[in-house]
Amino acid sequence: MTPDPRVLLEELRAAAAAQVVEADGALRELLHDREGSNDDDEHDPEGVTLSSEWSRLAGLADAATAKLQEVDDALARLDAGAYGICASCGRPIPAGRLEVRPFAEHCVACAERLGR
Ligand SMILES: [Zn+2]
Repeated sequence: MTPDPRVLLEELRAAAAAQVVEADGALRELLHDREGSNDDDEHDPEGVTLSSEWSRLAGLADAATAKLQEVDDALARLDAGAYGICASCGRPIPAGRLEVRPFAEHCVACAERLGR
């Protein structure tokens, strides 16, 4: 039995949304911590740690936001009846690929060609 893509997408959407909220909250907390310690930043031994933590969290937030967007796009294609059709060549996307990436917009060949 083929799993309902909408169910899969809704699950992915919820997970990505939770990630966005989580990363966002951590960033806010970090910002708050940083504001609390505005002594001499250049000689602050924690400065480097904070900024690498910041880039890590910002990366997470960006990735989660991008994922959310991908999933939303896939849901929109589902509503439009275009789900599972390669956006580039118009051929059906293999079921195996959709199982791994339910939000896939392109078939394997096009995804490779487009580098995504
Ligand atoms: Zn294609």
